[in-house]
Amino acid sequence: MAQNVTLLFDTSDVDYRRGVVTAESVWRAIVLYGANSATYKFAFGATLLEIAATGRDRVALEELAPRYADLLCQALQRNPRQCIATSSKFLDACRAFNAGDLDRDTLHRRTVQLGFTNVIDAFPQIGGAPAPVRYYEDRRKNSPTPGLLLRDELLRLARSVHAQVLDAETAARWRLVETAWATGVSGAVLGPSLVYDHAKQELLLPTRQRRKSVTGVVPALNGYQDGRCAYCDRLMAQGEASGPVVEHVLPWKLVTRPFWTGPDVDAVWNLVLSCTPCNQAKQDRAPHESWMPWLEQRNNDLIDSRHPLRETLITQTGATATTRRENLKNAYRTATELLPSTWTPPKRPHEGQCTPGKTPPISNAPTTSVRA
Ligand SMILES: [Zn+2]
Repeated sequence: MAQNVTLLFDTSDVDYRRGVVTAESVWRAIVLYGANSATYKFAFGATLLEIAATGRDRVALEELAPRYADLLCQALQRNPRQCIATSSKFLDACRAFNAGDLDRDTLHRRTVQLGFTNVIDAFPQIGGAPAPVRYYEDRRKNSPTPGLLLRDELLRLARSVHAQVLDAETAARWRLVETAWATGVSGAVLGPSLVYDHAKQELLLPTRQRRKSVTGVVPALNGYQDGRCAYCDRLMAQGEASGPVVEHVLPWKLVTRPFWTGPDVDAVWNLVLSCTPCNQAKQDRAPHESWMPWLEQRNNDLIDSRHPLRETLITQTGATATTRRENLKNAYRTATELLPSTWTPPKRPHEGQCTPGKTPPISNAPTTSVRA
């Protein structure tokens, strides 16, 4: 038993979720959380960000339709199921276009007529209540050119450093949701069937012929840690040498230990994203126990978000929050018996590293967590 393990996770009543509401955090709450009943919101969110990046503040449905329909047509080619409803006239039009039975102009007209009916009203809702940040005003009624008025919150977000990252996170959740439907597990959850590919940092779906790539681990997990390093909290700039990298919390080295009796450490419950300096400093050590509630909270967050990996995580960690805490404590105890040296994460981002600007908090916004 490692000498330094005396108080296991006694700090775990701290709320690790960020209390600050920003245009970016609310966007994530809308896109990365909630029921998986259709994939329209993914296509709509991606279309909004693209159009808002051009700086235009007024956009007609006719202008939104081509990109929105295009994204859904591509999705239907990947996976024929894009909603849980048995029929959708709009998706039928997309299918007809894919089959060559409908021309592009007709597809766009049908999209304007049918494609936005629910998504414009549903997108700015979180858990049935209006989201604390509004991205557009609905100008469909009493207007010669029905459309949306894009608010400054959206225009700023679309031109910020976050836009590309949010787009990748949306795509990752989209792939996971449609893969869950395609594999026939009810409620858009994947069974414990996805495998982590160490070399490619991807989640793979094993099929009879081969392992099929579903999505990268970085975009699949990034939004659930607000794009910040799991250990030092710095905002990670994607594509830069400083990160993010996929990190095993309990060291991957444990799989090489013959006496390791804990859960598979090469699995989602144990994978987080960190900046490169933390990854390099940590090496083959578990983090200090005082950090572990962060992982417990992240896994609970993923499960509460109705993430397609929910069932995978429940199978790996336990059905209730109490069981999960016990299992995590046991895994931590066993890991630190085999590899007793632990690493204490730095209290603030590494000195001298570039930290991109954070989205400014929206004034007058509530300061409570939006992840109900
Ligand atoms: Zn870090």
